Amino acid sequence: MKKALAILSAALFSALCLASCGGTDGTSSSSESSQESSAASTSSAESSEGSSSEESQAEESSAETDAAAEFTTVTEGVLTMATNAEFPPYEYYEGDTIVGIDAEVAQLIADELGLTLEIADIAFDSIVPGVQSGKYDIGVAGMTIDEKRLESVNFSTPYATGIQAVIVTEDSDITSVDDLAGKTIGVQTNTTGDIKACEDFGMENVVQYDNGAMAVEGLKSGKVDCVIIDNEPAKSYAAANEGLKVLETEYAVEEYAICFSKENAALQEAVNGILEDLIADGSVQEIVDKYIKAE
Ligand code: GLN
Repeated sequence: MKKALAILSAALFSALCLASCGGTDGTSSSSESSQESSAASTSSAESSEGSSSEESQAEESSAETDAAAEFTTVTEGVLTMATNAEFPPYEYYEGDTIVGIDAEVAQLIADELGLTLEIADIAFDSIVPGVQSGKYDIGVAGMTIDEKRLESVNFSTPYATGIQAVIVTEDSDITSVDDLAGKTIGVQTNTTGDIKACEDFGMENVVQYDNGAMAVEGLKSGKVDCVIIDNEPAKSYAAANEGLKVLETEYAVEEYAICFSKENAALQEAVNGILEDLIADGSVQEIVDKYIKAE
């Protein structure tokens, strides 16, 4: 009985999901999405018919597997992840390989989905547009859930906390975030550090760099008075560059999540289910602890 209920609710859930995805697709007019929408309505019809062979299949598989069966990926059998591998310890190179917290979490998710993980290293700025347009399946890049980004992509359940921190030179007269007004601030273009610094201190006081390492170079050469960047890369940069330190006070507290195309709600559903399990069973924490040692 319980099992039957579970199957029924899983079927109901996917029917609901398909209905809502279909609705969204229906209003969009691009040829790509109309293809997807016809695929969605085919499976929707199948699931509402509920043929007996499908039911017996469903009995053997979990609701999660059912959800996983419905999504499509850019390349069949592959989970294509976009990142910017200049964000230690979330993503960075070890030799030719991209490693880090995000790479490992994504690998566990791909394993659970039965897909091969492929990582594309692109400019941070290009991740949201690339995922939105369906070029990549997921964006995993220490990416903060942000209202502007939510207009273009969907986000998973958060899997980590991010803090916007401030790097200064050891002899700096900036001793807390209260001293930032009127200073020249280096940031990585289109990160939340950039967005918030422009809001709080004015664009004219913010210098954008392509990546964190370049912003840190700007600080070392005196072009900017400080760098606002996420706490973990901030610590890595301060450790790797003599004469720099990270301020104790936090500039902002944020949440990191995986982003998806709004057209691929089934993939988001499947990944979320897995991610939530990986958070609940401590796997995500284990990966975080491997890369971030408690102070
Ligand atoms: N968390 C920041 C953001 O989402 C920076 C991420 C990054 O540089 N990879 O904007």
